[in-house]
Amino acid sequence: MKGPLFVELRNGAKMPILGLGTWKSEPGKVTAAVEAALDAGYRHLDCAYVYQNESEVGAGIQKKIKEGVVKREDLFITSKLWSTFHAKSLVKGACQLTLADLKLGYLDLYLIHWPTGFKAGDALFPTDDQGLVVQSETDFLDTWEAMEDLVDAGLVKAIGISNFNHEQIERLLNKPNLKHKPAVHQFECHPYLTQQKLIDYCQSKGIAVTAYSPLGSPDRPWAKPEDPSLLNEPKIKEIAARHKKTSAQVLLRFPIQRNLVVIPKSVTPQRILENFQVFDFELSKEEMKEIMSFDRGWRVCALSTARTHKDYPFIAEY
Ligand code: NAP
Repeated sequence: MKGPLFVELRNGAKMPILGLGTWKSEPGKVTAAVEAALDAGYRHLDCAYVYQNESEVGAGIQKKIKEGVVKREDLFITSKLWSTFHAKSLVKGACQLTLADLKLGYLDLYLIHWPTGFKAGDALFPTDDQGLVVQSETDFLDTWEAMEDLVDAGLVKAIGISNFNHEQIERLLNKPNLKHKPAVHQFECHPYLTQQKLIDYCQSKGIAVTAYSPLGSPDRPWAKPEDPSLLNEPKIKEIAARHKKTSAQVLLRFPIQRNLVVIPKSVTPQRILENFQVFDFELSKEEMKEIMSFDRGWRVCALSTARTHKDYPFIAEY
């Protein structure tokens, strides 16, 4: 069994289970990366305003649509509302900026990138003299209402959340007059942070899960030499050798077999291809169990400059 290539969302849309990540993809490289991905068969791209490269991602999409390689309706494009746009009055404009950069008429999915609202303005990470993020007094329940309006206006097909803890999701689901439930929750998930409780919670509520940083994000800007490395984990290498696959391919197959969507980032054409070759092998139950046992609560994206924020998510157990 190789399993389905799509996850069906609550709006009936089919979300391809493998997409291309674009965080840290340099503007000068990401257009070619998007082209290589679409040529290789990717139909799902994970974008965000804060990645500051949506215009260059859009150029790659446009080129492949013009060449007739893909049609807009065959693509699944996600973007995310940045934290400085949480005020209800700013949400639509932020979405329109993203649509203009991506050169699209609609998004398939728009996520609240973090539950934490930041002070509005030009700085993406407004900070105080201690280096801590300056919060806004916005409430993500109000932000959600503006997200719902985007669905009703036809700017986005589905809405979701990212980096919420389960108490925050519960609060959202219990919101009086909730018009559109979140379709997707995107959060960090890999063998060092297996997130079983959060996954179970989301799946029990009909919320599809996207796993980010599946390879452990080796290009994260704050990487330290002493940090653990998933791609160099000897036991992952061993499993990969057994299947004549690479460590990256095992790390991508792992979430797929947990019914998750996964979005590896690469700007290297050969790796973009490699990361797509994950539908022709299967990890055994024992291998899945062994990989699950690597969990050590290790996070790539802790957003620690927002640790004093009223809505900082990573205080709750899950
Ligand atoms: P990742 O996908 O775990 O790792 C990306 C890194 O792995 C890059 O350095 C890439 O190098 C390298 N790589 C890719 N394929 C490889 C292969 N086959 N062999 C060896 N190295 C390989 O990290 P990520 O970018 O943190 O996460 C993926 C995506 O998730 C992001 O790009 C973004 O779209 C999304 N994300 C979302 C959030 C959120 O808050 N919602 C947070 C983090 C990430 P090259 O590019 O140089 O090839």
